[in-house]
Amino acid sequence: MNGFQTTAIVLAAGQGKRMESSVHKQYLLLKDKPVLYYSLKAFEDSQIDDIVLVVGRNEQEFCQKEILDKYGFHKIKAIVEGGKERYHSVAYGIQAICWECKYVFIHDGARPFVDEDIINRAIDEVQISSACVIGMPVKDTIKISDEKGYVSDTPARSLVWQIQTPQVFDRNVIADAYDKLLSEEENLSAAGITVTDDAMVVEYFLKIPVKLVQGSYKNIKITTPEDLKIAEILLD
Ligand code: C5P
Repeated sequence: MNGFQTTAIVLAAGQGKRMESSVHKQYLLLKDKPVLYYSLKAFEDSQIDDIVLVVGRNEQEFCQKEILDKYGFHKIKAIVEGGKERYHSVAYGIQAICWECKYVFIHDGARPFVDEDIINRAIDEVQISSACVIGMPVKDTIKISDEKGYVSDTPARSLVWQIQTPQVFDRNVIADAYDKLLSEEENLSAAGITVTDDAMVVEYFLKIPVKLVQGSYKNIKITTPEDLKIAEILLD
């Protein structure tokens, strides 16, 4: 018991177009179990209190039967339908939390290797900073391209991180940031801004500092067919 309630929103409403499979990537099998099983299991076995599962259109019943009932997950308090973009799915997940909750974890269901250490590090940090994201320092040199494909900048590698999930926030902070995002959605797309993670919503609308917390190089997102092969090796 922490003395505060924590909810994890696990996102599984993506189409997974880059996977080139008719089965959505979160339901593809990784050593006999769906990819989604592994991240739900990590949260189920952690100090997180509740889980909101965000799924694709008309997939609630399938998930209830084939994942929740089958594997006996007890912390899932709501299964809600996601939206067109990832940030819509996150917004619907946040709106579904109608219970006591101090901190919100937002996690890609397509990242099966989130583990207890990562979850614990994030819980420790969010109590200090109100907003933190899991990531790892990059191994490669990163270059910023201009519109014509020429290098416009080479940031110092020691300061560049690749960002993963979970991304963890004080509930009031993330709810406020996403309310602002939904009301400004059209202006943002008119300005050519694409929302690709949750921290950027907080950075952009609330200007709150977001702390980087070490994840692991294993915490990959299953996106393309080769990721599934890598995941199988990592699971051994
Ligand atoms: O598309 P991407 O790989 O960035 O998706 C990251 C996570 O967000 C995946 O777990 C995917 O299922 C989820 N997602 C979602 N709703 C969307 C798009 C993606 O829940 N509209």
